[in-house]
Amino acid sequence: MDNLTQLRKLGLFDARVPRYTSYPTAPHFAGGIGGETVSNWIRAIPDGSQISLYLHVPFCRRLCWFCACRTQGTSTLSPVEAYVDSLTQELAALKKTLPEGITISHLHWGGGTPTLLDPTMIDRLSRAIFDAAPLGDGAQFSVEIDPNEIDDARMDALVAAGLNRASLGVQDFDPMIQEVIGRPQSFEITKAAVDGLRARGVPSLNIDLLYGLPHQTRARMTDSVKKVISLKPDRIALFGYAHVPWMARRQSLIPTEALPSPEDRLELYSLSRDLFVADGYDEIGIDHFSRPEDGLATAQKNGTMRRNFQGYTEDSAEVLIGLGASSISRFPQGYAQNAPATSAYQERVRAGQFATSRGHAFTGYDILRGRVIEALLCDFEADLPAIARGLGEDPATALALADGLAETLPGTVSLDDGVLSIRPDARPLARIIARYFDAYEMNEAGHSQAV
Ligand code: SF4
Repeated sequence: MDNLTQLRKLGLFDARVPRYTSYPTAPHFAGGIGGETVSNWIRAIPDGSQISLYLHVPFCRRLCWFCACRTQGTSTLSPVEAYVDSLTQELAALKKTLPEGITISHLHWGGGTPTLLDPTMIDRLSRAIFDAAPLGDGAQFSVEIDPNEIDDARMDALVAAGLNRASLGVQDFDPMIQEVIGRPQSFEITKAAVDGLRARGVPSLNIDLLYGLPHQTRARMTDSVKKVISLKPDRIALFGYAHVPWMARRQSLIPTEALPSPEDRLELYSLSRDLFVADGYDEIGIDHFSRPEDGLATAQKNGTMRRNFQGYTEDSAEVLIGLGASSISRFPQGYAQNAPATSAYQERVRAGQFATSRGHAFTGYDILRGRVIEALLCDFEADLPAIARGLGEDPATALALADGLAETLPGTVSLDDGVLSIRPDARPLARIIARYFDAYEMNEAGHSQAV
């Protein structure tokens, strides 16, 4: 049986599985976790620790049809300004609650379009953040940048605030595909943003690219990948387009009949991977690439790479605090998510409270299962006894989680001395294998295709 037939047989082309940027995944969050719980979890952070902050800006000037992000369109800056007021209120509440001597190891602004913020807002917001917790030595400050929504003044303001890592959304450079997905963006505009950031000394750039878009062919994908390579990004995230119009209504504008088949998606991914690798990029986990000298490649080689809501990271902080509407925080005790609707979020923070509306307190073997899943998706292997011992659990418990896996997904894994390894030709199945360690019921409709 050839490898494609084997991958098909094991469900790669039919399955919908989580991306596992958290475990349990967000659909399993529930009520019962509120502002008081979050206050207690924040107070329990040891004095002098490093934490990470994620700040969500749920506004865009345009709403791209392919995008399933939680964001709203705006043609003026007044709702954005009011939202920045709310973020500063939330930061003031955080400052009051944080223990002594906390510094930030990773700060990320995502969205939506954080670069909608004008220079005054960028300055105000960054001051409020660093008043709550300053950046620690060697900290990373990254921002998602829409090349259509950035100019010299905003780049200057971001760099003055400490930006040292930028992530640019591209998706695809083909004008016809851009039209069909509702996101026009010329190569020249993207290059101008890249050049502007580099000229200001931003040392690390990431580009997001999508495979599986309508009308993507081998030739068009090759052309987009070559254009990306010509910009010499330090990292590339190559995500599969998730077509879920029943969840993201604007995706119903995307012509379903023009979407590549699952087999074509695998081919588009594979050819892109080959081009990146041939150009000297290291393959990172299931969907990232980085220059060998980049910190992510180093973390992968050292076995210290982690997976969080932004994807792969070298950040080792145990606490990630999400600020803004719908943001998710992770604590050693569990997850907490802010109210998704901007109005509800703003109402809560205006009253001086944390805006937590739901979450999940870890229970049973959640942490153990989560670590195994994370290891499989970061390293394609999991040292089950070592993971268990690191968490104070019995190694036999971790080994038992893998019982039956080799029979359920034959030929995909090996188990030697407790180290579970995904075979190289079964790596496209990594999320399906990870799913084996997920104890929660899954509604497939809420997840993306396995390839
Ligand atoms: S892709 Fe970016 S700019 Fe477009 S809708 Fe999504 S978040 Fe907004």
